[in-house]
Amino acid sequence: MDFLPLFFKLTGKTCLVVGGGEIAVRKAGMLFSADAQVHVVSKAMTKSMTDFLQKDGCSHRLGEFIADDLNNVQLVIAATNDKALNKNISQLAHERNIPVNVVDDPALCSFILPAIVDRSPVVVAVSSGGKSPVLARLIRARLETLIPSGYGKLATLVGNYRGLVKQKFSTINQRREFWESVLQGPVAELIFAGKDKQAAQLLEKEVEQQSVRSNDMGEVYLVGGGPGDPDLLTFRALRLMQQADVVLYDRLVSEGVRDLCRRDAQMIHVGKARDQHTLPQEDISKMLVRLAKEGHRVCRLKGGDPFIFGRGGEEIELLAKENIPFQVVPGITAASGCAAYSGIPLTHRDYSQSVRFVTGHLKDGAPDLDWEGLIQPRQTLVFYMGLVGLKNICHQLIHHGLGSKTPIALIQKGTTIDQRVYTGTLKSMPSDIEGLEIQPPTLIIVGEVVKLHDELSWFNLSPKDSS
Ligand code: SAH
Repeated sequence: MDFLPLFFKLTGKTCLVVGGGEIAVRKAGMLFSADAQVHVVSKAMTKSMTDFLQKDGCSHRLGEFIADDLNNVQLVIAATNDKALNKNISQLAHERNIPVNVVDDPALCSFILPAIVDRSPVVVAVSSGGKSPVLARLIRARLETLIPSGYGKLATLVGNYRGLVKQKFSTINQRREFWESVLQGPVAELIFAGKDKQAAQLLEKEVEQQSVRSNDMGEVYLVGGGPGDPDLLTFRALRLMQQADVVLYDRLVSEGVRDLCRRDAQMIHVGKARDQHTLPQEDISKMLVRLAKEGHRVCRLKGGDPFIFGRGGEEIELLAKENIPFQVVPGITAASGCAAYSGIPLTHRDYSQSVRFVTGHLKDGAPDLDWEGLIQPRQTLVFYMGLVGLKNICHQLIHHGLGSKTPIALIQKGTTIDQRVYTGTLKSMPSDIEGLEIQPPTLIIVGEVVKLHDELSWFNLSPKDSS
């Protein structure tokens, strides 16, 4: 870390801005919003600086900067376009141990100003260490959309109850749980709806009630982690991943997605590689029950969507039986992810009016499927878990009447940087991929829509593909 983020209390402190242009006005404005006494020194001032200086508590001196301008100053920002002058200010400030920022010159700075999301008293600061202020601003813009505008009021409200909650709840864990439920529950919603008074009343009631409520029972979040690219997570998935104390994940959950779980969460790998189930399904379900009964918030994180070949239903059946609270968060299933990232629309007005998701998992050495039922005109077939049975799948489809020239695609590690798309026909594919080192997971798409791949692929193109 080149710069440690700190939050500086400037209320009533004299801060100097040298410069009278637009950038100087912006910096002066930031200091002013932190309740500093802003003093501006500049040879010339733009109109917006003159306007700014009308504000209470601002002062200025029209003229060249001199060393004495630093007397009694707590912090200085050099925002002139004179490089030598900026350097001089930086040197003098360093000599006197006054924090100094020189606009657009990180080497001369003892501090830099972050891009800020201001929901005071909640403030989020983003910095690129001076490397790319534009990137920091883009990140800030994203955060602006994620952080409800009512968070400032919410923070102020709960701040008033911190002391009381500390009295009522004896352990840190109880307090954390209480605040998490308040900050994500009806109190927060009331604040967001502008009903501040009701929010305060409800919070007061909750403090009273919850102090006697037993917090013994945890809960389970069955979360779809999507096909690999962490950007494909839902907001809810991310929120619950960040909230859980324990995360049970399986092999399909990508590292990038796992990295977004709460840093101090206990991470448990529960399988399952093909034919080598690290933990039998039954044990996973029992483990979820046990952890929830111990009071943990457990995230069962699965690849793709938990309800599509994810055995999610089985896992929550036992929870339902045991009356353990749970919620299910959908994820982007491999078919959607791979289709989008390989430029193969699953349906298309000209080629396909329906799509079927099928398991290619082998039963007694061959996929156990109703082949006749699968062969419909203008239908796309998507096979999950089909790599091992690929030869058999191609053979059976041809055998049951699908043209041997029907296009087929095999997508390896869809949506990740290791994504590879192999296309061919039902007849050619088994031999096309012979000898290639294909890495799981892979998805198979069969149908005329595969033809669109050449034209529509856009993601992770190798130089060869794009030529
Ligand atoms: N619940 C998951 C599917 C689990 S079954 C979902 O909704 O996606 C496991 C199969 O999913 C794998 O054998 C493979 O066929 C497919 N799969 C999952 N992620 C994939 C990916 N990133 N690329 C290709 N196939 C994937």
